[in-house]
Amino acid sequence: MMDDELQRAIRQAAEKHALLNAVKYESAAEVSAVMGPLMSENPEFRSQGGKVSRVVSDVVEDVNSQTPTERRAHLEETAPEALAELEVESDEPTHTLPALPGDTSQVRMRAAPNPNGPWHIGHGRMPAVIGTYKDRYDGSFIVRFDDTDPETKRPDLDAYDAILDDINYLGFEPDDVIYASDRLETYYEHAREVIAAEGAYTCSCSGEHFSALKNNAESCPHRQKSVTKTQEEFERMVAGEYTAGEMVLRIRTDINHKNPALRDWVGFRQIDTPHPRESASEYRCWPMLDFQSAIDDHLTGVTHIIRGIDLQDSAKRQEFLYDYLEWDYPEVVHWGHIQVDAYDIALSTSTIKQEIEAGRLNGWGDPRAPTIQSLRRRGIKGDAIVEAMNELGTSTNNVELSMSSIYANNRSQVDRDADRYFMIRDGTAFSFSDGPPHATPPLHPDADRGTRTIPVGDSIQIESADVPQEGERVWLKSLGCVRRTGDQLIPTGDELEVVQSGAVDVIHWVDTESAIPVEMHTPEGTVSGVAEPDFHQTSPDTVVQFERIGFARVDDHTEHSARPSVVYWTHS
Ligand SMILES: [Zn+2]
Repeated sequence: MMDDELQRAIRQAAEKHALLNAVKYESAAEVSAVMGPLMSENPEFRSQGGKVSRVVSDVVEDVNSQTPTERRAHLEETAPEALAELEVESDEPTHTLPALPGDTSQVRMRAAPNPNGPWHIGHGRMPAVIGTYKDRYDGSFIVRFDDTDPETKRPDLDAYDAILDDINYLGFEPDDVIYASDRLETYYEHAREVIAAEGAYTCSCSGEHFSALKNNAESCPHRQKSVTKTQEEFERMVAGEYTAGEMVLRIRTDINHKNPALRDWVGFRQIDTPHPRESASEYRCWPMLDFQSAIDDHLTGVTHIIRGIDLQDSAKRQEFLYDYLEWDYPEVVHWGHIQVDAYDIALSTSTIKQEIEAGRLNGWGDPRAPTIQSLRRRGIKGDAIVEAMNELGTSTNNVELSMSSIYANNRSQVDRDADRYFMIRDGTAFSFSDGPPHATPPLHPDADRGTRTIPVGDSIQIESADVPQEGERVWLKSLGCVRRTGDQLIPTGDELEVVQSGAVDVIHWVDTESAIPVEMHTPEGTVSGVAEPDFHQTSPDTVVQFERIGFARVDDHTEHSARPSVVYWTHS
């Protein structure tokens, strides 16, 4: 038994921190965010452990039922000095991401997706981070489709718009959208400049042969070719007169460079397969990514590049090109790889594509697929993803994105608006009599959103996991206490105290006759069940909470009573 005075002290301190937390972030307070500062400010509470966290969760619930104006007024009244301090702090915005290097007066960044498929979750990191930097520095960002490989990383025509949709869903609007496959003539012009500056030569060595020479720091005979000869052969490449593998244009670097990957790299090659975009389908001479992106970064005014740590050689290769063209290289931030927990399928466009083609996934929005589309379909808000991505930072370390951090961000946003309903998975039916004709549970436990109506007939279903032992009691939420006798649930007339005393569990239920079928798609597969009838009134695309199960986004209600309503599980 806790001392009353201590309990009051904990309550008062918890309230201050809960209000501070809610006011500071202009959102609901969170127990986890209150516990830390509470304990460090009041070490004497530490020995109270679990009791403190129960008080805190009560207080947080209470604070979260207040409006933002009430919270501020309350804080002003009870802890004016804490509020004043908060207001000083809020003049200096806190940033999750580190500052960008170099001159940040006109930040311009880019996301450069290869449109070979819609985005997996890992791809969301780039727009999240550069979109956040854009806002922070009042800069801009470009989406540039690096679609210059019509063969091995062949663009998927539907992916261009799908990617732009994903970026909008994350909450960002690119300032410009460009397509590399529209810009071949620009790349050719710059290749001609580099050739004229003796920075490139045409080479007809086989890849294998050149590689062997290069690894011994030996040049091939083509390196001595005259500029005129290279110019002539490059024009033949542009005209598509060679077949794939017959001729490449190499950027002349340093054949003795200590890193063999930097020695005379390929800038252009011939590709026989036509590009899927009609406007680019006649081209056969294609730049390599290092050439194309180097030219575009400069011409589109990119000031800061973020790219994977595995692409460190790219900057070094491209610097040779920038020297020939007398350009300055942008600032570069290299970051580590991202992994995501909670999925069986790898973060790989080609793997996901294969799973879809093999019929093991039901498209890119299948919740089992680690894709941006699937998170969107589950009713997760884009900024919940952005926040979790920014928390990963931009260091060279590999990072793991935890889905639970996205869920926590999202929960605090959807909880207030989500109406509650009962849904029963794996139901067991009991006969029921002598109850009220209907039950009217609230649509939301805190917000004043009215009630829903569940007719009560002579059969009730509860989840098999909730079935009480013979003779045991259970509290049917908003209906009352019942005792199980065989296949019947019989009202006992007990008062709510039996729940408060912990003697009886509260469970959800549906009326068998009025229940409507529901199919819930989850990352673990599809779950069938039945929901209370008012659930049918919800509009597609809203997020509801199935009590004791979790949040779900309404995808589709069918008019046909035999076909289930479809929902996508959001999180618990
Ligand atoms: Zn050669």
